[in-house]
Amino acid sequence: MPRLLSGIQPTGELHIGNYLGAIKNWVLLQGSYETFYCIVDLHAMTTPYEPKEMSQRTLELAKALLACGIDPQQSVFFVQSHVKEHTELAWVLMCLATMGELSRMTQFKEKSSEQKGHATAGLFTYPVLQAADILLYKAEVVPVGEDQVQHLEFTRDVCRRFNSRFGQFFPEPKPLLSKTPRIMGLDGQTKMSKSRNNHIPLLAAPEEISSLLKGAYTDPARLRRHDPGHPEICNIFTIHKGFSTQELVSSIESDCRTAGIGCTDCKKILAENMAKSLEPIRERYLRLNDSEVLEVLCAGATKAQSVAKETMKQVREKIGLLLV
Ligand code: SF4
Repeated sequence: MPRLLSGIQPTGELHIGNYLGAIKNWVLLQGSYETFYCIVDLHAMTTPYEPKEMSQRTLELAKALLACGIDPQQSVFFVQSHVKEHTELAWVLMCLATMGELSRMTQFKEKSSEQKGHATAGLFTYPVLQAADILLYKAEVVPVGEDQVQHLEFTRDVCRRFNSRFGQFFPEPKPLLSKTPRIMGLDGQTKMSKSRNNHIPLLAAPEEISSLLKGAYTDPARLRRHDPGHPEICNIFTIHKGFSTQELVSSIESDCRTAGIGCTDCKKILAENMAKSLEPIRERYLRLNDSEVLEVLCAGATKAQSVAKETMKQVREKIGLLLV
């Protein structure tokens, strides 16, 4: 099976945007690829963070991912900082990357402008560490959303540069474009995110889901119950696609257009379906204890380290370092 790698930052509690946008897909990809899933805590250091919270966030995220269905028997599941070779390879690649190409990265431009002059070198070189994450395991496939295409293109460029300078070694990773839609926040203004407080937590209890959905933004043209709606621009309809059956999605689509269903009822149905899908995840999460999760991460780190150590041994030879 081709090897696939993907990572997620421990930046806060998971929400349904993360679940529908990535995690649900991660679970499905197990069995079709040799999957490496990594909690990228070193990437989370590139923007301001609270040191006291980092380890707990990492552990909680690992627990949530296991509850969602990441299976450590099928996937190598580990924390980035537990495999020191990530930063070593990042340095090697840093010496191949140019300032010009890194300064053209859209994500750097956006995030650095938010930090008003305090953007770090870590943020600037973020795509290099990401390239190291992928190449260290010689991953052939990387699932990417639209916002990650540019970074993967950079990885492919730096991979080609390494191979042409030091001899063919790394496979060029291919993107696996995710078909999952962009989930907007409950305010309908920006992407769902915890920092904007416009999210539905993945581990929310059914009552919380229902109450959060009540206030969610829908089609602004539906001012009255009998106004026809436009499901294609409604975030509630997009979320339905992730939690409701195809049959129900089709009937909501046509009923919305003819005002056969009102937004209140539409949200009520969605809340029920979300609760049905998410309740087993919540139960599994509550059953997992910290020491079990740490054991899983430790075993995952051991598997990842054995691949990473072998790659770096060969990289050191290829780049001409003195070996002892
Ligand atoms: S009926 Fe449903 S899909 Fe249509 S606008 Fe209201 S919430 Fe959106």
